[in-house]
Amino acid sequence: MKKKVFIIGSGFSSLSASCYLAKAGFDVTIFEKNKNYGGRARQFKENGFTFDMGPSWYWMPDVFERFFNDFGKKSADFYEAKKLDPAYRVIFSKKNQIKIGKNVENIVDSFEKIEKGSGKELRKFLNESKDNYDLAVSNMLYKMPGKSIFELINTKTIFKINLFISNIKNQINKKFKDPRLRSILQFPVLFLGAKPAETPAFYNFMNYADFGLGTWQPKNGFYDVVQAMIKIAKEHNVKFLNNSSIEEILVKNQRAIGLKTKKSFFKCDFILSGADYSHTEKLLQNKYRQYSDSYWSKKTWSPSSLLFYIGLDKKIVDLDHHNLFFDTDFEKHADEIYSNPKWPSSPLFYLNITSKTYKHTAPKNCENLFILIPISTNLKDSEFIREKYFNLVIQRIEDTIQENIKDHIVYKKSYCIKDFKSDYNSYGGNAYGLANTLKQTAFLRPKLKSKKVKNLYFSGQLTVPGPGVPPAIVSGKLVSDLIIKDEINI
Ligand SMILES: Cc1cc2nc3c(=O)[nH]c(=O)nc-3n(C[C@H](O)[C@H](O)[C@H](O)COP(=O)(O)OP(=O)(O)OC[C@H]3O[C@@H](n4cnc5c(N)ncnc54)[C@H](O)[C@@H]3O)c2cc1C
Repeated sequence: MKKKVFIIGSGFSSLSASCYLAKAGFDVTIFEKNKNYGGRARQFKENGFTFDMGPSWYWMPDVFERFFNDFGKKSADFYEAKKLDPAYRVIFSKKNQIKIGKNVENIVDSFEKIEKGSGKELRKFLNESKDNYDLAVSNMLYKMPGKSIFELINTKTIFKINLFISNIKNQINKKFKDPRLRSILQFPVLFLGAKPAETPAFYNFMNYADFGLGTWQPKNGFYDVVQAMIKIAKEHNVKFLNNSSIEEILVKNQRAIGLKTKKSFFKCDFILSGADYSHTEKLLQNKYRQYSDSYWSKKTWSPSSLLFYIGLDKKIVDLDHHNLFFDTDFEKHADEIYSNPKWPSSPLFYLNITSKTYKHTAPKNCENLFILIPISTNLKDSEFIREKYFNLVIQRIEDTIQENIKDHIVYKKSYCIKDFKSDYNSYGGNAYGLANTLKQTAFLRPKLKSKKVKNLYFSGQLTVPGPGVPPAIVSGKLVSDLIIKDEINI
């Protein structure tokens, strides 16, 4: 008889694991507390506008391709994706903006125009960054379940030890002088959830992901990926239960025996949780938890976000698909997220408009705006505060594009800490999990396999490899490999 695996949550790591496990012959069921699947990557449609709720930067297309290839498919079998040109626009002020082109040649030219000699320096930097990408993504990522330090040490990484000790901010600052170029090169690191000064220089492979591999957009939004993965899962007979919040993981003699929802008890052989790790441990009796409250409270969390989903009844001329408003002090904002947590005095923010690339994601002659303000976790969240920041960012957008948008808003929804907590059981309302700092890398992250319950496993952005959609997909693969290996012994 097939061994039964229950998976808590339907985020990317859970979907990925469900496909690998079902393919390996397990009987897999996903329990999702929300009505819709996809976790932080859910999507909603309102008044003809389509909004992806979370991820919007489709980077590292090779990781997505590798997943589909493992099931004899390719992404194009499920969705169309376009490489964006420009990839994104960085706004330092109304008159001072830089567009990042779709290939290295264009970007080198843009750098050279800003700082003499920086084009050549960028090429050298990207060569190193590509080298690290090949090492990290092609060689290490899929072989590092985070069990021990020895996964990190090999004949190639040993020569790169300085890149683990030094930080990416220093490395960039040594090579580039212009503050705008420095900010652009530090931007990809923000996906890892920590300050560039606290992120090992080895993670400069994200710069190759950015400039070398480019920024892509699926035709109907990021949710195309969720739907593709659900399709593969269903083809392999994975069962999906929505509106099924797990209230308890039952354990007997150090073995998980089943899951409890409000109404029922379900028996199984293995449990994998793709829900926030800290929440999952709360579903266990105290003696089966590996990490204490104080462990979680001392961690460096990736930021939370204040999000706005806005429908406009007109087109905006002078903006692109991805726009970074870097028109205030980066250091001060980072300090207000990490070192001295409070609502930011003058935040940087990000504005996404998918209808710039795919018109059908908004009604005719309209635009769908998604605004993301990174903030610290655990801040006091209220309608009053949300409205204050809404007015602030709308004013900054209007000042930059010199157009009225306030009077053209026909749809508006906000999303913040309270929603992250209630929708996803997210620790402190974090948006993308535990940051990848030196002390929270690889074997130093919370483990994929419980040390206290024999057949209990974890995946997703709080464990290895870390935050972001590509790592979540890899996390699902790594944890399913462990379960497949353990099947014989359990
Ligand atoms: C605003 C935002 C923007 C982002 N932008 C990007 C981006 O541009 N590019 C990128 O690559 N990444 C981005 N990310 C990060 C990326 O979306 C996440 O890292 C990834 O989707 C997390 O996947 P996961 O598998 O960890 O699960 P999650 O998406 O966290 O899903 C966990 C699931 O578990 C469910 N759950 C929780 N508790 C229970 C329970 N008790 N019972 C049943 N179900 C439960 C939740 O409802 C949820 O569906 C962004 C994230 C956010 C929030």
